[in-house]
Amino acid sequence: MAFKTDIEIAREAKKKPIQEIGAKLGIPAEHLLPYGHDKAKVSQDFIRSLEGRPDGKLILVTAINPTPAGEGKTTTTVGLGDGLNRIGKKAAICIREASLGPNFGMKGGAAGGGYAQVVPMEDMNLHFTGDFHAITSAHNLLSAMIDNHIYWGNELGIDQRRVSWRRVMDMNDRALRDVVVSLGGVANGFPRQTGFDITVASEVMAILCLARDLEDLQKRLGDIVVAYRRDKSPVYARDLKADGAMTVLLKDAMQPNLVQTLENNPAFVHGGPFANIAHGCNSVIATRTALKLADYVVTEAGFGADLGAEKFFDIKCRKAGLKPAAAVIVATIRALKMNGGVAKADLGAENVEAVQKGCANLGRHIANVKSFGVPVVVAINHFATDTEAEIQAVRDFVATQGTEAILCRHWAEGSKGIVDLAEKVVQLAESGASNFAPLYPDEMPLFKKIETIAKRIYHADEVLADKSIRDQLRAWEAEGYGNLPICMAKTQYSFSTDPNLRGAPTGHSVPVREVRLSAGAGFIVVICGEIMTMPGLPRHPAAEVIRINDQGFVEGLF
Ligand code: ADP
Ligand code: MG
Repeated sequence: MAFKTDIEIAREAKKKPIQEIGAKLGIPAEHLLPYGHDKAKVSQDFIRSLEGRPDGKLILVTAINPTPAGEGKTTTTVGLGDGLNRIGKKAAICIREASLGPNFGMKGGAAGGGYAQVVPMEDMNLHFTGDFHAITSAHNLLSAMIDNHIYWGNELGIDQRRVSWRRVMDMNDRALRDVVVSLGGVANGFPRQTGFDITVASEVMAILCLARDLEDLQKRLGDIVVAYRRDKSPVYARDLKADGAMTVLLKDAMQPNLVQTLENNPAFVHGGPFANIAHGCNSVIATRTALKLADYVVTEAGFGADLGAEKFFDIKCRKAGLKPAAAVIVATIRALKMNGGVAKADLGAENVEAVQKGCANLGRHIANVKSFGVPVVVAINHFATDTEAEIQAVRDFVATQGTEAILCRHWAEGSKGIVDLAEKVVQLAESGASNFAPLYPDEMPLFKKIETIAKRIYHADEVLADKSIRDQLRAWEAEGYGNLPICMAKTQYSFSTDPNLRGAPTGHSVPVREVRLSAGAGFIVVICGEIMTMPGLPRHPAAEVIRINDQGFVEGLF
């Protein structure tokens, strides 16, 4: 049987006008700022008016470590949102916006898949409502103002060797990782080495996703440390008077985007930090708005639970005061097999033993998520090639971990394929079993926090860091940044920093290559192993097959 592609299914969607979707949540039409017929931003005034209303229940969707076989977190997030609506609950979905980098590289879209998608998916995977462009512009405005300040006499005494603020672009472009700017003579300023990161790793992206409102946004932008002086004292974006103009560039981007699922249920799509090199969650403002308007809010954290869920709990929930009621860990038979050592080419054949072996990865994620005090259920995202024996093997394993694995067919069937999971999630959320607490306290020293994550979540033996890195962490503690949480940057493919080490490795070391202060976002980025904050394109990027076909439709995006 030939399956329809995601984009074919999305194109057949019977979309409702966005005002009707807003009305389901009680958003008056005048507070929806339409971007075309099927996308709208929610007004700041309306969001402010929700203050004081009770919150719905927050459900996190996370997963085992990703493999090239695909897991389907977004697909399951969307499916579960539809499933909850199907069983009569008022539910909304909160996911991230897509970056152009992976779309034209290799990961594919960010709108879900099969019969569990958010539409309009083409827009979502291209320029959408322009938020990422606004973030890129705001970030690079600050970069331009730094070099301009130095050019015009450097009144603030910025040490040109210690400018920490880089530039960003929403594209995978390894050529820009390390660059020299201001070459070409006196008129072009003072040459210095710097580099580009992808927009989804920008501190401005993180700030937009963590800020409560526009005032908080501006304050955080002002708090960004852009450089140091020769005496090592920090220079802030506020010192350059950049925060006001950056806020102006971001004022529309700060408003959450409302779209709909294939089943016409509301979905907020807002913000998009990657989970390997940034904190990996959609915006706090979208999540809090959704919680005021719906009884259940289903949200996704990126990549595996070692990255996405840990940062969702330790950064987003800690900082925004959110209390998740339950977590869903998505697993697929294919990805478990790969975690059990099977090559991608051999995934078609039944292999119960490999599934059982791969379950070690799932088991560790279950224990980790539970350690935050959040009750867990496992969703087996069903693929057509799964066999009954393989599915039973996962059910049996998960039962030994004190929880339950539920088979879900939302990709093929939409909401009717995920009713069992929806009912289980309601039961967990209503049981009051959640007793959420972050992994480490604010006052723990920074290096100890890194060790705690490495040992408790990754099951590593040790963290390796040069003296210069430890000294830097101590210097930030002395400057008053010691209470910040850690934002780990690490490969998504393994609990370790070696992308090839699947399953549940132990006894490994976590080498820290670099640490970066994100004083405006409010965390310390810890870059481990070989992970890059500007990805590259693969040998054959998806861009090679993306085109507009004879009917005028976009082809090859997914
Ligand atoms: P994640 O959020 O974990 O990165 P997505 O939900 O975006 O994953 O799914 C990635 C791709 O896998 C999508 O193209 C989607 O259509 C496909 N996919 C997801 N679930 C299934 C399934 N059960 N069967 C076949 N393809 C699937
Ligand atoms: Mg996803």
